[in-house]
Amino acid sequence: AKAQIIIIGRPNVGKSTLFNRLVGKKLALVDDQPGVTRDRRFGDANLLGLEFTIVDTAGWEDEDPDTLPGRMRAQTEVSLHGADAAMFVFDTRAGLTPLDEEIARWLRQSTIPVILVGNKAEGRASESGLLESYSLGFGEPIAVSAEHGEGFADLFQALLPHV
Ligand code: GDP
Ligand code: MG
Repeated sequence: AKAQIIIIGRPNVGKSTLFNRLVGKKLALVDDQPGVTRDRRFGDANLLGLEFTIVDTAGWEDEDPDTLPGRMRAQTEVSLHGADAAMFVFDTRAGLTPLDEEIARWLRQSTIPVILVGNKAEGRASESGLLESYSLGFGEPIAVSAEHGEGFADLFQALLPHV
């Protein structure tokens, strides 16, 4: 079976844009409004010939586990069990937020390999966000621009051991 790679991150960091870029079709809904992806979406990804199943998630829209977003987070947790690695996406322009830190804590408790992906990294505005992200404890961030298709050779290198 193909390896399964799950995309995790707070709303609006570009998870669905990354998903679309890797799948090559407009399957996941992208929107300026946080939380547009209401469910898990599976796609057949092809990155420079590397083939894997990609999962786009929602679930970090809200802190309260009793709300609908909380239940979506539970669903993310379920999908993590079947995954071979997670791409933890953050926004290099916005920098880290408390929610990024919370997701990082949550991922550190899991046994899944984490690939740290700094999105929106086109141009210089990403530099401080990339530096700051070393503090998350997942090593070197992979700088990409999902929108502009930059950094995908580095992402390929990072995914290779897991696919
Ligand atoms: P999600 O909520 O994490 O799934 O994020 P989306 O994929 O829906 O994207 C949220 C917003 O970020 C949209 O306005 C995207 O156009 C924008 N975005 C996504 N990737 C990039 C990127 O590489 N650079 C920039 N500047 N904006 C991006
Ligand atoms: Mg989305």
